[in-house]
Amino acid sequence: MNQDKLIAKLKKLDESITFEPAKSYYWSPKNQTVYYQEGDSTEVGQWTLLHEVSHGLLQHTTYESDYELVLLELQAWDHAKKISKKFKIKIDEDHVQDCLDSYRDWQYKRSLCPDCDLGGVQIDQKTYSCLFCRGKWQVSEARFCRPYRKRTVN
Ligand SMILES: [Zn+2]
Ligand SMILES: [Zn+2]
Repeated sequence: MNQDKLIAKLKKLDESITFEPAKSYYWSPKNQTVYYQEGDSTEVGQWTLLHEVSHGLLQHTTYESDYELVLLELQAWDHAKKISKKFKIKIDEDHVQDCLDSYRDWQYKRSLCPDCDLGGVQIDQKTYSCLFCRGKWQVSEARFCRPYRKRTVN
């Protein structure tokens, strides 16, 4: 299915969600907007659109921690799989796992204490603390849908 057709159908699922072309795919809770790479009618592009619109349909807005963000990613993929059937699109499970793995790796790296290299605990959206040395470090603000390594399908 080409991208314009798919977007036209996705718009009907919830009219409060808008779609805007951008450099990468992501969901903006603030603007209630799915940003997408225009002209990308690849399979991965279609899966990503279904995923992003799922964040909107599930009303994903805020998260308290990186861990919660990873959970929301998982929920968005589950929902994407559900709605994909309506559009006769088959989302590849390996792709979903790759995306979730890249989130988990990202979260793991953020959680490592710069001094001890041990996993710390997150105390607020931008701060982690080490249980061992009691050091604290800042992390950048997390966002829905990080770029992941694209791998070739088929
Ligand atoms: Zn430490
Ligand atoms: Zn996402």
